[in-house]
Amino acid sequence: MSLVVVGSIAFDSVETPFGARERMLGGSAVHFSLAASFFSDVRVVGPVGDDFGDDEYAVLQARGVDTSDIERRPGETFFWAGRYEEDLNTRVTEETRLGVFEDFRPKLSAESRSAEIAFLGNIQPELQRDVRAQCTGAQLVALDSMNLWIDTARESLVAAIREVDVIVMDEVEVRMLTGESNLLRAAREVMALGPHTVVAKQGDHGVSLYREDEFFALPAFPLETVSDPTGAGDCFAGGFLGSLAAAGSGADGAALRRATAYGSVLGSFCVEEFGTERLQRLTREEIDERYAELQRMTALEAAPA
Ligand code: AMP
Repeated sequence: MSLVVVGSIAFDSVETPFGARERMLGGSAVHFSLAASFFSDVRVVGPVGDDFGDDEYAVLQARGVDTSDIERRPGETFFWAGRYEEDLNTRVTEETRLGVFEDFRPKLSAESRSAEIAFLGNIQPELQRDVRAQCTGAQLVALDSMNLWIDTARESLVAAIREVDVIVMDEVEVRMLTGESNLLRAAREVMALGPHTVVAKQGDHGVSLYREDEFFALPAFPLETVSDPTGAGDCFAGGFLGSLAAAGSGADGAALRRATAYGSVLGSFCVEEFGTERLQRLTREEIDERYAELQRMTALEAAPA
């Protein structure tokens, strides 16, 4: 199955207790597509400015990501600057410059319109809806969002959620969106809007997956070195949906559990280094090795007779 993603394509300046980087390649669509590229074909939709050069395209193309739906426009590429506190769980946004996103109207190619799986990465919810409407071939559409849009565009975000099948969001934002502090109840409230699956990312606590009659959870893969959490959520989504695209069939229980594990594995590699650094030299063998370790760590024996 083919995969299309719309989201930010960005330059990120990031500071963590373990170092800092200026204007590195980032953005939700970039992290997502690099992670998904280990499993399936992936096309990126989004705008970049004239400061986005060959080196940036080359990072995506080296992983086989189809960049023909990236629209180059006069102006500045989306820019985000953030800082993490000592525990790495608290992120402070210091600057967001929309640049070419300001007046962006997505126009999907025929190939992107016919992709079977679509991911609406974290951007303005009306843009997510616009892309959703154009994805006429999609059998599965997933959406991510963030506190900024819950605060500033809540109605549009709820309308966007009504139009998708899967929500992949941070647990704090699922709670914030619903005003319900119990995550199971919050997930049920989101499902009542329309999506059949809610995946709540819980940072270094792992991930929980909720469906009408199913629950699944995994811890985060234990890491000794965490340098920069930026992009972990998008890499999770890329591994999750990429794995579902590779499985080809509908999203049954086993495929969803496997996808959750692949998502966790991709997120864990992402945070080991800054930005896209680790994913740029990641291999499929390393992914499968870590998947097997995660499987061993989480397998539960049957109760004694
Ligand atoms: P996450 O997976 O949540 O860590 O996503 C990190 C990415 O989100 C960074 O690479 C940023 O460029 C991007 N980002 C931050 N703020 C926004 C925003 N308001 N809209 C779209 N993308 C954003």
